[in-house]
Amino acid sequence: MRVDDLLARGQTFSFEFFPPKTDEARAQLNDTINELTPLQPNFFSVTYGAQGGERTRTRDVVVALARNGSVPPVAHLTCVGHTREEISALLGEYKAAGVKNILALGGDIPADPTQIGPSDFRYAQDLVEYVRANFDVCIGVAAHPELHPRSVSRESDRQRLADKLRLADFAMTQFFFDVDHYRRMIDELSALGVHKPVLPGVMPVTNKAQIARMAQMSGSELPQWLTDRLAPLENPVDIRKAGVEIATQLCTELMAAGAPGLHIYTLNRSVAAREIAVNLGLGQA
Ligand code: FAD
Repeated sequence: MRVDDLLARGQTFSFEFFPPKTDEARAQLNDTINELTPLQPNFFSVTYGAQGGERTRTRDVVVALARNGSVPPVAHLTCVGHTREEISALLGEYKAAGVKNILALGGDIPADPTQIGPSDFRYAQDLVEYVRANFDVCIGVAAHPELHPRSVSRESDRQRLADKLRLADFAMTQFFFDVDHYRRMIDELSALGVHKPVLPGVMPVTNKAQIARMAQMSGSELPQWLTDRLAPLENPVDIRKAGVEIATQLCTELMAAGAPGLHIYTLNRSVAAREIAVNLGLGQA
């Protein structure tokens, strides 16, 4: 199924994974997929890294999901370190496996940039244009409610987002903790004449140090109320319970704000993601 067709039918819910690096991590991801599949989410998305090993790991997970046929995959794909030929070869493999959705991204530059090859695409929009012209797939793009960390100004960042979303079919957001960031971005896109679906990305906090690190990298604000709420908690179960409560509340506010669906970041663990879905009455839990 294409994500744009799913969105046309009504609100979606979906989960994000990253490709595993070790046998142990692969087993963990398989368990997570097996535990979340019975909820009957609308799709799973799989992140992508530009370095050689990461590329094939993502491809293998995406192709296995497509061949399994239970939940359609969305394959993340980046500009960084890719020629047109490499993108075409990968999309050819996806087509053969029946993959119908991609997320076209600028991409994170690896810690060691010498590990990647030349890039024929600079911005996500360039990749969207190329894929649109050459492949029949549903195309998503990334949106940053609190602005992309490298953006020059609010106006230019929103204009760039509007430009690429006009060409794409839908967007998925970076995680955030305040529904107002999402509302404001949707209003700003509307003012620019863009009304395509933007799926909010929701990250349940399960580890305090990890969320602080990820927020810093992605340019997401950790609001004071969140830091205060987590500060007295040390037991991992208590932290996860608080994280699930906070994420459930945010999802409820997002649905009330008219979000076309909910995309939950799992970090390849099922418990928090499943608890949020159950709290919201999503799927067949
Ligand atoms: P772009 O749309 O290219 O934007 C990047 C910056 O350039 C922005 O500041 C924008 O304002 C500016 N810009 C855009 N177009 C132009 C232009 N024509 N001229 C001048 N400036 C311009 N990274 C990965 O490596 N792998 C993943 O799997 C992955 N998954 C992600 C999933 C989601 C939902 C999100 C939100 C991010 C993900 N990322 C991933 C991170 C993402 O690749 C980085 O944030 C990257 O730095 C920017 O990606 P983008 O697609 O938003 O880039």
